[in-house]
Amino acid sequence: MVFTSESELTQSLKIISDKKNTVGFVPTMGALHDGHLSLLKQSISENHTTVISIFVNPTQFNNPEDLKKYPRTIEADIEKIKSVSDHILIFAPSVEEMYPTKTEAKHFDFDGLENQMEGKFRPGHFDGVGTIVKRFFEIVAPNKAYFGEKDFQQLQIIKKLVEKEKLNIQIVGCPIFREKNGLAMSSRNSRLSSEEKDEASIIFKTLTKAKILFSTNSATTVSQFVVNTFNQSKKFKLEYFEIADEATLLTCKRKNNTKKYRAFIAVFVNNVRLIDTISFN
Ligand code: AMP
Repeated sequence: MVFTSESELTQSLKIISDKKNTVGFVPTMGALHDGHLSLLKQSISENHTTVISIFVNPTQFNNPEDLKKYPRTIEADIEKIKSVSDHILIFAPSVEEMYPTKTEAKHFDFDGLENQMEGKFRPGHFDGVGTIVKRFFEIVAPNKAYFGEKDFQQLQIIKKLVEKEKLNIQIVGCPIFREKNGLAMSSRNSRLSSEEKDEASIIFKTLTKAKILFSTNSATTVSQFVVNTFNQSKKFKLEYFEIADEATLLTCKRKNNTKKYRAFIAVFVNNVRLIDTISFN
């Protein structure tokens, strides 16, 4: 069932839900791929009702060109969702429905998580994410919400949002789905030529090599290796590579055995921005 209005969705949820029936929620921006569908399948396996939202949130885009070019494939998305199950509630609201007064983000303090990596290079991005996810949480009132580790910083920020706003929602992190060549699945991949997609395997290959190097080398040496690798490429431009503490997202300066580290990368290919991440433990 597809809903475009908040009131129709909440009415349906009221009818379905009682205290014993749990609701799982999967927020997306559409142009669905198998990564998104894996989140849906996990929600279905753990809840009585699953809601997926499809909404390209304007306030989380700092680059107007990126917002304009973001793929929108609602009909195909609905078919993909139906191929998983006929019982999923699809919420695909308009911008006016989600932002009835002003299309504007609220400001959030996520204890500094918002100032690293994506926050540094996409100013205001996590205010937009916080604003829309909080609004969706109010509408859907899920017991559990599913987020991909592909956007690991976002996952940590949503956990912080739930903690700070004292919401009774369990945030579930889900593994990254990849193409055969290692490229992390992303809606933005549809903007790449097949040659660019093939060559984009450099991102995961480099992360994998960096992980091996990190076991016997310093963070500085590993970072230098990644910078050098991308300097040799004409097509792929490195925006950032960071090795950070998973909990605080602060840059790893000197290795500490009690901490869990993770590498984060953002790369441009032909004006398309791709991100990826890998656990270093
Ligand atoms: P998006 O539509 O890009 O906003 O993504 C919606 C949700 O799907 C987010 O929680 C993402 O982290 C997650 N997601 C996106 N790509 C992948 C992937 N390749 N594997 C697993 N989850 C993903």
